[in-house]
Amino acid sequence: MTNAEMTILVAEDEESFIEALNRCLTREGFTVRVARDGQEALELFEKLHPDLILLDLMLPKMSGIDVCRAIRTTSQVPIIMVTAKSAEIDTVVGLEVGADDYVTKPYSMRELVARIRAVMRRRQGEEVQASTKEKIIKQGEVFLDPERHEVSVRNKLVKLPLKEFELLELLMNNAGNVLTRDVIIDRIWGAYYSGDTKTLDVHVKRLRSKIETDPSDPKLITTIRGLGYRFEDQKY
Ligand code: CA
Repeated sequence: MTNAEMTILVAEDEESFIEALNRCLTREGFTVRVARDGQEALELFEKLHPDLILLDLMLPKMSGIDVCRAIRTTSQVPIIMVTAKSAEIDTVVGLEVGADDYVTKPYSMRELVARIRAVMRRRQGEEVQASTKEKIIKQGEVFLDPERHEVSVRNKLVKLPLKEFELLELLMNNAGNVLTRDVIIDRIWGAYYSGDTKTLDVHVKRLRSKIETDPSDPKLITTIRGLGYRFEDQKY
């Protein structure tokens, strides 16, 4: 897809930003449409089916968070949230509203364009992946169904929060191979990773407590010291 065929919906109420965005994104070859409040953003989203939405958090009539949530009930269109300060980012991330990425004002246009491209690339990659998999992954007595979002271990259904599910899916898809911490963090958290290096370990620990026979002596997810984690291939 070339930029010219791509429509970006900019939901922004500050004229100075609107002007700058319009100029910059148009120059980059994107088609730009502008919504000046949350309601208009939703209306234009439904009318235009944009390829990406740049969504300001603070909008008149309806907040960016509510707009994002509303869109996510029907669509997985890439959304980049725009916030005024980093404290707001924590709110967005904490609420898990379903944005793909975020930028903080004031941002450079170069950074923004790079983020837009990255989100688009990631999304296209996911689409390719999604059409080729969607079948149940089996490893010994662990079954993971990506489509139904279900995991069963030793014939028992195990409830996993989203991030733990994604982590297990990633590890099982790469069973037998070591995944480095950086790769795992990038794939599961991306830009949302808080920077606290313990987050990954905490998730692994929780996951082990739910799927391992003896979580203190893990046989499924093993730690490769100084490197990362590996889901042990159960076929051997
Ligand atoms: Ca605003």
